[in-house]
Amino acid sequence: MDCIFCKIIEGKIPSYKVYEDNQVYAFLDISQGTRGHTLIVPKNHSNSVFDLSEEDAKAVFSIVPKLSNVLKKAFNPIGLNIISNNEKPYQTVDHFHIHLLPRYKNDELTLSMVNRMGEYQQIDYVDILDAIKSAMKA
Ligand code: 5GP
Ligand code: ZN
Repeated sequence: MDCIFCKIIEGKIPSYKVYEDNQVYAFLDISQGTRGHTLIVPKNHSNSVFDLSEEDAKAVFSIVPKLSNVLKKAFNPIGLNIISNNEKPYQTVDHFHIHLLPRYKNDELTLSMVNRMGEYQQIDYVDILDAIKSAMKA
């Protein structure tokens, strides 16, 4: 399979390795969105969260607190964002990955969430919950 991250895990493409265990590989994002920007990937190839096994999810997510604390200690950020883009157009590399993005004052990274509180009525929340519950049953 022609996957950049699989090649990185196999050592066929060089990377700045941050961490590795039997199931997980973490390395610096080539484009340092902010200083310390790190990617965490499962060694098993999954395209996205939608085909990620629970076992790989456990392995990948369980390393998040440790690596976040390492980045905090190393760079003293004012905060840290954890994001994962899944499917196009947001995802550009089709091997599931989590971005750890230390945040700094005036770092110019924008991930703003629009506050829509007040735009939703009780009926809207019930509709949304119904859709989710129906999908869970199916
Ligand atoms: P996505 O857009 O899928 O959420 O994130 C993919 C990330 O992979 C991007 O931030 C991009 O900079 C990074 N990336 C793409 N190719 C390489 C590579 O060859 N090496 C490294 N270290 N990062 C890469
Ligand atoms: Zn892959």
